[in-house]
Amino acid sequence: IRRAEASLDRIEYILHEEDSVPDPINPVPFPRPKGEIVFENVHFSYTDAAVLRDINITIEAGKTVALVGPSGAGKSTFANLIPRFYDTVSGVVKIDGIDVSTVSKYDLRDQIAFVSQEAILFADTILNNIRIGRPGASDEEVVAAAKMANAHEFIESFPDKYESIVGERGASLSGGQRQRISIARAFLKNAPIIILDEPTSALDSRSEEQLQVAMEKLSQGRTVLIIAHRFSTIQHANTILLFDEGEIVASGTHQEIYEKSGIYRELYDKQTMQQA
Ligand code: ADP
Repeated sequence: IRRAEASLDRIEYILHEEDSVPDPINPVPFPRPKGEIVFENVHFSYTDAAVLRDINITIEAGKTVALVGPSGAGKSTFANLIPRFYDTVSGVVKIDGIDVSTVSKYDLRDQIAFVSQEAILFADTILNNIRIGRPGASDEEVVAAAKMANAHEFIESFPDKYESIVGERGASLSGGQRQRISIARAFLKNAPIIILDEPTSALDSRSEEQLQVAMEKLSQGRTVLIIAHRFSTIQHANTILLFDEGEIVASGTHQEIYEKSGIYRELYDKQTMQQA
């Protein structure tokens, strides 16, 4: 009882935290969008220092866009403004022409699947861990999503298959396997917009390949933003946005940016040289 009391105190503290991104009083309806994302004159800062400066960009529905640039350039912050984890200081973020701050956060986030660098896994069965993507989904739907994510094979190789309990934080799974569980959740959720923060830790080449195939399948017919830490990923992107010090300093295909941007050439050459 004493332990539970301490937990309740902490939970109560969290429940009473002030919401820094409140829901609008009269939210506008937000039906399933096609997935066009527009940033108009967006400025953002966490504290005093500007983190994003006057961002103006249109990402067409159905395209795959890679966000690249040095660490601290503002890539994650840019991505975080779309599901409204933060509000802009000025300027507007729109999905299919609708300002994200005018719809309810629930409706907004229902249309966006966020695949983070480290999948958050719970000490529960694999089945239930994937089902988090869409809590009402049947067992068959979970298995179908796992197949799409190239996860079915490794799950079936475990003695208890889908009933296997993953340790706290997924200790019994490799990095690539955790990421594919996360992708399976995104398939199950079936949202038109995917934001994917690529894992920075190196995966073995087979895992990497399976992850790439799963990501390509997931991107069919959806708008996908990949925060790319490794250049091997960006080959599949329609467009690359190069971030530097809070600005988008170049956009285009790999070849176009490679030719016109010194920062990009330096980043690219350094990474490909390390791999060679
Ligand atoms: P990237 O994804 O390109 O590495 P980030 O968007 O994570 O860049 O960070 C941009 C800048 O914002 C960095 O200077 C970083 O230190 C700062 N920053 C990121 N998150 C926070 C936060 N929660 N609070 C304060 N500053 C932050």
